[in-house]
Amino acid sequence: MDRKLNLVRFVSVDRMMRIILARGVEPVLRDLAAAIEEDFRRWEHFDKTARVASHSREGVIELMPTSDGGQYAFKYVNGHPRNTRDGLQTVTAFGMLADVATGYPVLLSEMTILTALRTAATSAMAARHLAPVGARVMAMIGNGAQSEFQALAFKAVLGIDRLRLHDIDPAASRRCAANLARYGFTIEICDTAESAVLGADIITTATADKANATILTDNMVGAGVHINAVGGDCPGKTELHADILRRSSIFVEYPPQTRVEGEIQQLPGDYPVTELWRVVTGLEPGRRDACEITLFDSVGFAIEDFSALRWLARAAGESGEYDELDLLADPDEPRDLFGMLLRAEAA
Ligand code: NAD
Repeated sequence: MDRKLNLVRFVSVDRMMRIILARGVEPVLRDLAAAIEEDFRRWEHFDKTARVASHSREGVIELMPTSDGGQYAFKYVNGHPRNTRDGLQTVTAFGMLADVATGYPVLLSEMTILTALRTAATSAMAARHLAPVGARVMAMIGNGAQSEFQALAFKAVLGIDRLRLHDIDPAASRRCAANLARYGFTIEICDTAESAVLGADIITTATADKANATILTDNMVGAGVHINAVGGDCPGKTELHADILRRSSIFVEYPPQTRVEGEIQQLPGDYPVTELWRVVTGLEPGRRDACEITLFDSVGFAIEDFSALRWLARAAGESGEYDELDLLADPDEPRDLFGMLLRAEAA
C-alpha cells in the first residue's frame, strides 16, 4: 500500500481557498449542488440523526454525524450571533471523513468556508425544484458571511442576475455589493426589508440573531414567491412570522431536526411538511403552480456536509492541495501500542 493509512490528509483554510480559486467559485458551487443532489437521491441509504446541540447563553456548538455505510462523516460547527461584535465569525466549522471498513479517518478539513459553500449549494439545489420558472431577481436580507456564497450559488444554478440587498448594518450590504461587483449582477441596496422584497422572485433570509425575529411579515410575501430561509436554525432563533408559514408549502431537510430548529418550530409538531429528498427523487412534486408560495426551511443537515467532504476528498487529491497529519498512533505491530512509546523514549 503506497499511502500510509496513519497519515490523514488535512485541508487547511489556505489549501481550501486555493482549491476553490483554482476551480472558480461558481463551478465549485455547481459541483457541490450536484454532489448534494446525488446524495439526496440515495437518502434512504444514510444513517440519519438530528445533530447533537450544546446550547449556551451566547450560542450553540453542534456535532453533525452521518454515514452511507462506506464512509462516515461528522462536522463540528458553532453558531454565535454576537461573535461579530468581537471580530469573530458567527459560524466556524471543521469536519472529518472516515472509512467505515477500518474506522480510520481519511480526511480532516476546515469547514467554515465549506459550510458557506454547501449551505448555498443546498439552497440553490432546493430552489431549482421550488422557485418560480424564470426567476431572475433575489432579495437577500442579512448580508453577512453567507450572503455572497448564496448569491453566487443562485446565479450558478438558477441564473439569478439581479440582487436586492438589505441588512440592518448598511456597511454589510455595501461590502456584499463590492465583493460581488465582478460577477455580473445588477445590485440594489435597500434601506428596508420591505423595499428589498419588492419585485423579488426569491427571498433569501440569512440574518443572525438569537431571537424569534420577524424579518418577514405576512404582508411582505406575495403569491408565487420562493423563500429560502437560512438564518432560523436553532430553538428560539427564527426569522419568519408564523402566518407566512401557514400560507406556504414547506420543504425541509430532516423533519426530526427541522421541527426543533427550523421556522416550523413555531407550528404544531405534526404540521404537514415535505422532505426535500422526496422532491429530488420525484416521489413528491416541488412547486405545483405559479401562485404557490414555496418555503425551503433550511437548517443544514449532516448529509450535505458528507457530500461536501466527499467532493473535497476528490478535489484535494486531484490538486495535491493537502498536508499529511500524523494523527493516528499506528504501531507496526498493532497490539504493541505501549512498545511504540518505549521505542520513542529509547530513540
Ligand atoms: P453573519 O453574522 O456573518 O451575518 C448576519 C447578518 O445579518 C449581519 O450582517 C447582521 O447585521 C444581519 N442582521 C441581523 N439582524 C438583522 C435584521 N433584523 N435585519 C437585517 N439584517 C440583520 O452570519 P452568517 O454567517 O452570514 O450566517 C447568517 C445566518 O445563517 C446565521 O443565523 C447562521 O446561524 C445561519 N446559517 C445557517 C446555515 C444553514 O444551513 N441553514 C448554515 C450557515 C449559517
